[in-house]
Amino acid sequence: MPSVFSRIIAGAIPGRFVCTSERWVAFLDINPVADGHVLLVPVHEAPRIQDLPAETLADLGPMLARLTAAVRAATGCPAVNVIVNDGPEAGQEVPHAHLHIVPRFAGDGQRVGLRHHAASAESLDAMQAKLQAAWR
Ligand code: 5GP
Repeated sequence: MPSVFSRIIAGAIPGRFVCTSERWVAFLDINPVADGHVLLVPVHEAPRIQDLPAETLADLGPMLARLTAAVRAATGCPAVNVIVNDGPEAGQEVPHAHLHIVPRFAGDGQRVGLRHHAASAESLDAMQAKLQAAWR
């Protein structure tokens, strides 16, 4: 069964498109956090960012830069959150990779709810080593 986003891209269910291209589309979120909340969605359906084809990933940067500029211009917002919920434990509800672009204004009362914590130099060093090994 194709994802809800694949069905929107295929025209099987309606979507309010902002732009379309060979590998990425953007449409309004049906339940926006703020007016102008847009989803940037790859045409290739895969659950996680890391599963996307190289050519799709190559197009992401330019699409994201242009779309954040369009959201700023259309809404007048001075800032945006770009959010990726990459996996269900991170809050991903639609298992088709996507980015949220959310307009932000000073004093809008919204907050992204992740909490930071202090970390020791030893634990940062250990994690750096693990990540460097995983990167290789
Ligand atoms: P996630 O939690 O997976 O990162 O976000 C999924 C987003 O998709 C939610 O913000 C939700 O409002 C949006 N969404 C779910 N179903 C539809 C739909 O049928 N159409 C549109 N335009 N957005 C949807």
